[in-house]
Amino acid sequence: MADKNITVEIVTPERVVFSEPVDFVVVPGVEGYLGILPMHAPIVSGINNGIIKVITGGAQTKISTSGGFLEVNNDKVVILAETAERDDEIDVIRAKAARERAEQRLANRTADIDVARAELALRRALIRLKAVGQD
Ligand code: ATP
Repeated sequence: MADKNITVEIVTPERVVFSEPVDFVVVPGVEGYLGILPMHAPIVSGINNGIIKVITGGAQTKISTSGGFLEVNNDKVVILAETAERDDEIDVIRAKAARERAEQRLANRTADIDVARAELALRRALIRLKAVGQD
């Protein structure tokens, strides 16, 4: 295990989802996945929807997010996310139902279907299912 940690704080408008010292974090930045170790240079970046991975002592936690912003400064990573859920709090049945609903909407497109909205809902559901290995 590294002798120096980096603190990761993931916050949504509703709550603090994660706040712990970790060895390493991988974040879905807008220009691709960013791996952040202690002593990383300061950055501010947008993040995409995707999976945040935090690694501590060899153990990995996956956190699904629908996107937001990231700031790295002084061995602290702050992620302000629209939504975020740790893998152990993802409701698989709910995510599968959301995936099904979005797929149905996209398969039976009528004039009142907002395609972009259905595609985003499908993507959120797929990311949640991927975070728990149920995709
Ligand atoms: P749904 O249609 O099931 O509400 P959604 O993608 O529209 O899904 P969001 O608007 O992204 O939901 O999220 C609303 C809130 O519900 C957020 O706090 C998010 O963290 C939480 N959430 C959504 N889906 C799940 C899930 N499958 N398990 C746990 N929390 C979830």
